Amino acid sequence: MKAARLHEYNQPLRIEEVPNPVITDPTDVIIKVAGAGVCHTDLHIIEGIWEETLGTELPYIIGHENSGWVHEVGSAVTGFSVGDPVILHPVASCGKCLSCRAGEDMHCEDLKFSGLTVDGGYAEYLKTSERALIKLPDNVDPTDVAPFADAGITAYRAVKKAAPLATPGTKVVMVGMGGLGHIGVQVMRELGNADIITVDRNEERLNATLDLGASHTVRADDHMIDNVRQLTDNKGPDIIIDFVGSDQTHADSMKMLRKGGHYFVVGYGGTVKVPSLNIINNEYSIVGSLVGNYNELYELMVLYGRGKVKLHSTKFPFDQANEVLQLLHEGKINGRAILVP
Ligand SMILES: [Zn+2]
Ligand SMILES: [Zn+2]
Repeated sequence: MKAARLHEYNQPLRIEEVPNPVITDPTDVIIKVAGAGVCHTDLHIIEGIWEETLGTELPYIIGHENSGWVHEVGSAVTGFSVGDPVILHPVASCGKCLSCRAGEDMHCEDLKFSGLTVDGGYAEYLKTSERALIKLPDNVDPTDVAPFADAGITAYRAVKKAAPLATPGTKVVMVGMGGLGHIGVQVMRELGNADIITVDRNEERLNATLDLGASHTVRADDHMIDNVRQLTDNKGPDIIIDFVGSDQTHADSMKMLRKGGHYFVVGYGGTVKVPSLNIINNEYSIVGSLVGNYNELYELMVLYGRGKVKLHSTKFPFDQANEVLQLLHEGKINGRAILVP
């Protein structure tokens, strides 16, 4: 089969012929890939920043946002048949450890992470486990939904944590209206009941959020904090969900947050610096959120099937993987990019 493999850090992927994956465990499933989402995490993998944490041996196939059709099943697979359209939770979790039994796939003690620790979906076929599969509603084309497997559930999980606090009259600021943010706004509209204020540098992206559930938009410029204050009766937002996670967005968020407020950190890369006096005096809650579990991806697919969440995406032929990664690096991808083999 054709695959795009990482042979060397900081070098383009090699598009090459590799052996098809084969079933080795009775619960294994081979997927014919319909789409693979292209993600900032792929750029970070190529840069080598995950090397020390994961230690994955090169070369391997990247791509952790995958969807497709069941192509072959192991002897113990009971819930899926050849041809079923599916989206893949990015992690094949073990199902036996305490985290798995609590439903927290991302904390599994023996997980296989497609495209990070094992071969991923920048390929014609991909091996995963039956546990990672979610069958798609009949009206959903698997090619369209691949980015939900990571970008989608990451936004969904953070918003689901915040939603019980987003009662009528509360103000939620959502920072960064790219691939994750535009999904997050729609999920907040569905699960919460707050006034949603979106923040981004890009006017076009901000305007698009008014159709997705935002009540106000604020440009991320020098007047941003003042403008947010005005929209929140001079008290600041009750909830901030930060899809960017830079030093700047962390600092701005801690300046804006209302007393008793909750700050959800989803994007990463910066450092949150806040004096402990401020944390206790204002009773701030600072909460991290990592991808999402199997049930969260299932719930998101139900919302998508009902037409409640829309994904802004562009499809590219699979052999343009390197060009698409370059466009993403340059900030020229709006919404999410999907590679189609
Ligand atoms: Zn991703
Ligand atoms: Zn486990």
